[in-house]
Amino acid sequence: MRIVTGGIAQETNTFQRQPTTLADFLHPGFGYVGRGEALFDLEGTGTVYGGVFAEAQALGVELIPTTYAEVMPGGRVTREAFDTFRDEIVAGVRAVLPVDGVLLVLHGAMALEDHDDAEGLLLAAVREVVGPDVPIIAPLDLHTNLSPEMIEWADAFVGYKEYPHIDMPETGAHALRLLVDAVRGQTRPAMAHVNLPLIVANQAMVTTWQSPLKRAIDRAREVEGQPGVLAATVLGGFPFADLPFTGVATIVVTDDAPALARSLADELAAICWEAREDFAIHPTPVDKAIAEAMAAPAGSVYVLADVADSGASGTAGDGTAILAGLLAANARSAAMAQIMDAAAVAACIAAGVGSEVSLEVGGKHDGLHGPPVVVTGTVRLIHEGSFLLTGPMGAGTVASRGRTVLLAIGGPGGIELQLSELRGHPDELTYFRAFGIEPTERRMLVLKSAAHFRAAFEPIATQVIEVDAPGISSPKLMAFDYRALRRPIYPLDADASWSLAVKDWGLRKGAKE
Ligand SMILES: [Zn+2]
Repeated sequence: MRIVTGGIAQETNTFQRQPTTLADFLHPGFGYVGRGEALFDLEGTGTVYGGVFAEAQALGVELIPTTYAEVMPGGRVTREAFDTFRDEIVAGVRAVLPVDGVLLVLHGAMALEDHDDAEGLLLAAVREVVGPDVPIIAPLDLHTNLSPEMIEWADAFVGYKEYPHIDMPETGAHALRLLVDAVRGQTRPAMAHVNLPLIVANQAMVTTWQSPLKRAIDRAREVEGQPGVLAATVLGGFPFADLPFTGVATIVVTDDAPALARSLADELAAICWEAREDFAIHPTPVDKAIAEAMAAPAGSVYVLADVADSGASGTAGDGTAILAGLLAANARSAAMAQIMDAAAVAACIAAGVGSEVSLEVGGKHDGLHGPPVVVTGTVRLIHEGSFLLTGPMGAGTVASRGRTVLLAIGGPGGIELQLSELRGHPDELTYFRAFGIEPTERRMLVLKSAAHFRAAFEPIATQVIEVDAPGISSPKLMAFDYRALRRPIYPLDADASWSLAVKDWGLRKGAKE
């Protein structure tokens, strides 16, 4: 059996003006590129490929690697970057023809500087090489914006069911099983999908509490237990992408039973649609959040989540509203991960460890995440910025935020501010511990993260507060200047409607039915 694999994964926030470049993909710890056999370095990691490789071994299947590239969420991907990796994947597949199946590892919400649907382009390119009869199957992120072309060129998708995405390995394994069964002729995947006229905030897709999306996902798990069902997926979509096909979608794959797939995809969509009013998220004002944390009993650990400036949602990473609030409140025992500000990092490094510096930090990237804030503090640590992840997501891989400094503001026991060259997504305790901060011993942990922080930080937190600060991953979707999104769409348009009769607004052309 000859199964070839590769992929490109990035999540595009189209409100981020800075494009995502080839250099970003190639920056170790910010991006990852595995070419050929080097891809097997991901064996045993808490990644999609970690699960794929383990499952391949269990199934006795050898995989032929091409190129896999991923990078931190950010702005639209440049053509240079996309074409480079697409060409490597396509050449890699062509070089080993004939193949029996293709496993493409995708995110599902990647847009290019000149094209909205990168996954559609990649799938089409691979389909052209392998022909119509070789199954192409892909695992997808829960934040996929499902496009018509993706459906047209793939045989089956299976999405993550957890947010934080602690089930990446499991999803990769599931996708490979689907593919191997199809290649062996044991199943014939039949896929149906629904695109709802509904966008929802990331924060309402969380699965560590009974969010509205989780209700549908719980049902998807039940559905997967039914005879003849190969995969059931509820995609929350990625709302910070102003694209015609952004939004909630469902996908069900059955064994040669298109009508069953259709009705189950409809059922999952109906659960989401009926819950549409419940998806609203109401973040807490900065001063109120800080006051509540400061008033809490000794020993409390409050997580103040800067959900609108989430590095993992491709924002600026330099939002200052919560820092300004901490300074105004003269906060103590507060640690912040992190503000991206390369100029401030350089200034602190030039001053040296132990020096007192006064400088403007943050708010320099795009004017959408609060103005720069003047701080005075002592440079306590200078770090090259990379560390090994050991937490619930991506364990065994390296994260880097570029050179990082720790600035102590207000003396010992005051505010510990991390300044970094690159934006990060603090989704595990190492984002503090690597820089000498013990998160369980701080009253306030300020995190630039929409939701991924929850897997590691909820267990140590007395309380988690989603803070209302400005930024391009804000849950207040009504405030975004959407222009390309299809309309009407809920909640932007009160008259948006969906019923089983109108379902997927004409997207059926490619459905494999
Ligand atoms: Zn995601």
